[in-house]
Amino acid sequence: MIELSLTEREQELVAEARRFAVAIIEPQAVTWERTRQPLPRDVFRQYAASGFSGLQVPVEHGGQGVSFLCKVRVAEVMARSCLAATFALNNSQATAARLVREGTEDQKRRYLPRLLSGAIVSAPAITEPGGGSDATAMTTHATKVDGGWRIDGRKAWITNGAHADLAVLYAQTQKGVGARGIASFFVDLHATGVERSRVYPMMGGAAIGAAELTFRDVFVPDLDVIAAPGAAFKRAMAGITAARTHVAAMANGVVEECLSRAVDYAGQRSAFGVKLLDHQGLRWSLADVATDLAASRLLAYHAAELIHREEEAIFAASQAKSFASQMAPRAVAACMQAMGAIGLTEDHPFSRHLIGARIAGYVDGTTEIQRERIGVLLPKYHGIGGRRS
Ligand SMILES: Cc1cc2nc3c(=O)[nH]c(=O)nc-3n(C[C@H](O)[C@H](O)[C@H](O)COP(=O)(O)OP(=O)(O)OC[C@H]3O[C@@H](n4cnc5c(N)ncnc54)[C@H](O)[C@@H]3O)c2cc1C
Repeated sequence: MIELSLTEREQELVAEARRFAVAIIEPQAVTWERTRQPLPRDVFRQYAASGFSGLQVPVEHGGQGVSFLCKVRVAEVMARSCLAATFALNNSQATAARLVREGTEDQKRRYLPRLLSGAIVSAPAITEPGGGSDATAMTTHATKVDGGWRIDGRKAWITNGAHADLAVLYAQTQKGVGARGIASFFVDLHATGVERSRVYPMMGGAAIGAAELTFRDVFVPDLDVIAAPGAAFKRAMAGITAARTHVAAMANGVVEECLSRAVDYAGQRSAFGVKLLDHQGLRWSLADVATDLAASRLLAYHAAELIHREEEAIFAASQAKSFASQMAPRAVAACMQAMGAIGLTEDHPFSRHLIGARIAGYVDGTTEIQRERIGVLLPKYHGIGGRRS
């Protein structure tokens, strides 16, 4: 295991995150899938009570003020129990961090204490039914009116959308100008004109509570503007670099859990007179998983370290996410194979984790979009005279 530059307190938080996942998330994860239930509000409150809802929020604002690397490690160890739940929890947490970075004093006063206590749940709303990868083509519209804005449109695949109270919503203010016209707003999801039009019937990942939201003439006061037209998209893209690193870490956590279980099982069960792990074919398969996982972790920690040092991390984060999201489904399947038929049952998390690994390939930009980002930056990092990330 790589030595990470975490303080003693950060290491303790990571250990506490693992205990939290084993005690609170793991015992319920199968039920959430069976009943297609979004993550219960109680779990958001317990997560908050354990201090995880404000990991990156400075102490003076009521958070933990820990490094980004610590936040990434917390996500990694929690995702060992359930990627969907970890993702749902983190999306609300991300709003708290954004609020401190970008919000007005009035917005902080109104929303921060409730986000940190888990009393309200939040999510970003960028994607639309017409498409997610090309976010600048969004059609949800914000029209300026006296004292605020009127929002019309639909948002798709919103994490926690099934029950969230507050959205960080991106909308176009001027047709035909793309990113330059996009502004962001806090939108009360209990306001008149907001409809939770569809909760997606996913075959796995139910805890994410992904839903489509429809906005019909929804009034948002000027006080709830987060970023003005032009600034919002740039800020969203800055935030997405961290989110991609975070997703990579969660995918790595899923693989770690599957590998540990497969190694233990194959070390105990015998076939043809020897332990499964003594069959070279199987041993090599798991050895490759361990090697891929080590490489994937290094990529994620490297991106996290760059983000922590406030250095350019777009290339590194896309590499971490691209590698992890392609490696994880393959790796989980290899571990599942080592388990034989029993790996298919609810007694083990492999099926859930396989879906979790697939989800990592869509959220915060698909694998193809990561490759696009890496491709565009190739001359900078790998051309003659370029610098390695
Ligand atoms: C569980 C879950 C939770 C989510 N949570 C949120 C959320 O909280 N907030 C939010 O705003 N969004 C959320 N999303 C949406 C997610 O960000 C989008 O699914 C993603 O951006 C892809 O958009 P799309 O699904 O519309 O696919 P599309 O953009 O329609 O793409 C379809 C396929 O085409 C490929 N493609 C597109 N463009 C290119 C290109 N230039 N080159 C090569 N291939 C390309 C894509 O990679 C993909 O394989 C969530 C999605 C999931 C599955």
